[in-house]
Amino acid sequence: MARSKVPIALALVGLFGCSASDPDPRRASDPARTPSAQQAAPEVAPSPREERAALSYSGELTQGGFIRGQVPSGAVRAVLGDEALELAEDGAFFAAFDRDSPASLVLSATLADGSRVNETLTVTERTWPVQNINAAKRPAGSSEAWWKRREPEYNAIVAARAKVTDAQGWKQDFIWPVKGRISGPFGVQRVYRGEPGSYHSGVDIAPGNGVPFVAPADGVVVLARTGFSLEGGLIIVDHGGGLNSAFLHCSKIAVEEGEAVSQGQYIGNVGSTGRSTGPHLHWGLKWNEARLDPLLFAGSME
Ligand SMILES: [Zn+2]
Repeated sequence: MARSKVPIALALVGLFGCSASDPDPRRASDPARTPSAQQAAPEVAPSPREERAALSYSGELTQGGFIRGQVPSGAVRAVLGDEALELAEDGAFFAAFDRDSPASLVLSATLADGSRVNETLTVTERTWPVQNINAAKRPAGSSEAWWKRREPEYNAIVAARAKVTDAQGWKQDFIWPVKGRISGPFGVQRVYRGEPGSYHSGVDIAPGNGVPFVAPADGVVVLARTGFSLEGGLIIVDHGGGLNSAFLHCSKIAVEEGEAVSQGQYIGNVGSTGRSTGPHLHWGLKWNEARLDPLLFAGSME
């Protein structure tokens, strides 16, 4: 059963989000919002494209959510909080809000003359369910021995996620890699016998063992290996723009590192490899270091 989208967030997006085609005349004529309208139109040959003086964006302005937008014409740099954004040639960008994002973040574009266009974004707070687990937080055994095995795996994952590709999937509306019962929603806070542990960093989908799954958006496979101690069979797909997907516990991997994949392309099969209590696909989404809610990308399963 799929949880519905966050209705408050959607309502807020309607209020605070705006799109490139926003017809609201106040946005274009308010001098406070367009401090550099003159500078933004330098002496260049007339372009058929309309010059943009304001930042535009739309999306899910909530913890774990994201926005897509465009910087003003002539912008040379943009940041969300202190994270630099990758700007496409046409000024399009992607940015996202960590599960624990503050309630307010400044989106800022810097123009060639050094002036800035700023927007303060309101990011709605979510309340995260708590899962009480009747087990010790740390498994018995030497942590040194554990880290000896884990360190190369950890380094491989970090290196894969740092790879920059020319993938354009960040521009697409995501689809579910596979549909099935949500056995673990994103963001759930785990508590081990009263001691808070990590939160659930992705969404668990349980369609059954061996069921094939697909790429939720275009991308480049930056990691595809079996045998990770926690993740088991692991696929990481870079979607460009700093956004990537991880698929854990795979029983089979059908792609290779370096391979470009298209949205909807079969990439692997659901399994229970690594640290897993039953067959499911754990789908994690990250933008830089921010952990995101896949449900906000793929929408309701109905
Ligand atoms: Zn999971």
